[in-house]
Amino acid sequence: MSNNICDVFIAGAGPAGLSAAIALRQRGADVLLADALRPPIDKPCGEGIMPDSRHTLAELGIHLDSRHGAEFTGITFASDRSRVSADFPAGTGIGIRRTTLHTLLLERATQLGVRFSWNTPLVVKSGLPPNRPPTLANQPITYRWLIGADGQASRVRAWANLDTAHLRSRRFGFRAHYRISHWFSESQPPHVEVHWGPLGQAYITPTAPDEICVSAMTRHPNIRLNEILNAIPTLRDKLATATPTSSERGCLTLTRRLRRVTRNNVALIGAASGSADAITGEGLGLAFRQALLLADSLAPAMPDSGNPESGNLNLYQSRHAAILALPQRMASLLLLLDRHPRLRNQTLQAFANRPALFRELLAVHIGEQTLPHFLLHQGPSFATSLLATQRPTKARQDMPPNLTIETKVSS
Ligand SMILES: Cc1cc2nc3c(=O)[nH]c(=O)nc-3n(C[C@H](O)[C@H](O)[C@H](O)COP(=O)(O)OP(=O)(O)OC[C@H]3O[C@@H](n4cnc5c(N)ncnc54)[C@H](O)[C@@H]3O)c2cc1C
Repeated sequence: MSNNICDVFIAGAGPAGLSAAIALRQRGADVLLADALRPPIDKPCGEGIMPDSRHTLAELGIHLDSRHGAEFTGITFASDRSRVSADFPAGTGIGIRRTTLHTLLLERATQLGVRFSWNTPLVVKSGLPPNRPPTLANQPITYRWLIGADGQASRVRAWANLDTAHLRSRRFGFRAHYRISHWFSESQPPHVEVHWGPLGQAYITPTAPDEICVSAMTRHPNIRLNEILNAIPTLRDKLATATPTSSERGCLTLTRRLRRVTRNNVALIGAASGSADAITGEGLGLAFRQALLLADSLAPAMPDSGNPESGNLNLYQSRHAAILALPQRMASLLLLLDRHPRLRNQTLQAFANRPALFRELLAVHIGEQTLPHFLLHQGPSFATSLLATQRPTKARQDMPPNLTIETKVSS
């Protein structure tokens, strides 16, 4: 068989492309995967995988544990005025270096028999109707299905005329790693810490017992990682004693929904198919879920299905939006707090006063609870808590500004 003939050709071997390759191979597809780079491929990322996403990754045959990174048991929100923590209602998340995750995905795909072409960008030329077929290293590719997993600036998307989108937010994201022991308290398992500052948010993910990944997001185009961190004094002071172990990397982070993610025999996956702002920490989980959906959609089309003509991308097109919906809603909510400092302070204060609310919202975020259920059962109590923050008690008015109200709730 020629190297460039396959059932499914995937452009882009990031987490989305590799996950799709694994899921499709698990259902019997002959998969060829190409990337412009060589492995292991790094990328700016907060490197946190939520408990539900970790579970989905296990369905692809990758079982992460503390040998691969560092586990975390919940999320902490912190600002200069308040701090609130909650454990996940079920499971633990894991922080894992992006290159380690890439290596594990690649090993799994190789074990299943996926074929690779590294250092070979897919070349697509649009403009002349009908579009010219894509080529790989100047050679045509023969495929039944083409999957664009080529990231947020996807060329496959443009080529397939799938670029029509609703852009809800556009921010700048950065990441760097630091070696530091005792960042987290020894008596409690670590949380991902989300620090809210005047220029944006920075979150700390443990990636090894003595290493953290610091990632930050900002709306301001001329701001870099250090400026965001320096505007958060607690982080600045703590990081002053840490040793950088990687250089800063940055890229855009978008909340974007496409009108369509498929056309004829072309489908988009991962960041190419839409995204939620990085503050949600959901990009990887989205890619894993989309990969399983894509494979389910195409499974009937695979040679050993008995009726290979029956498969198509309809299921993928119809259910893709539902996978993105919740992370995008969460992104909208969190970006509202980013834009409105007063609302942010009141909301964090309300959570600090009623940490059970924060725990419930975390349950929604990881899919253990639905948003309508949260709004129905916790909405009134949240509104009351929020209003209460507008009527400071005498004791609170007298409180020195640097005194933090800290509250923690365990499941
Ligand atoms: C600052 C920041 C923090 C984040 N933190 C988290 C987090 O904590 N948790 C989380 O789950 N998500 C996080 N994300 C989101 C996550 O990084 C993305 O969702 C994820 O990288 C998307 O994976 P992908 O495979 O779709 O795209 P990418 O990772 O961008 O991979 C695309 C691949 O396509 C290749 N490619 C591009 N063009 C071509 C071409 N023409 N031919 C061949 N190959 C091509 C590229 O080389 C690349 O390897 C964060 C993002 C940012 C920016």
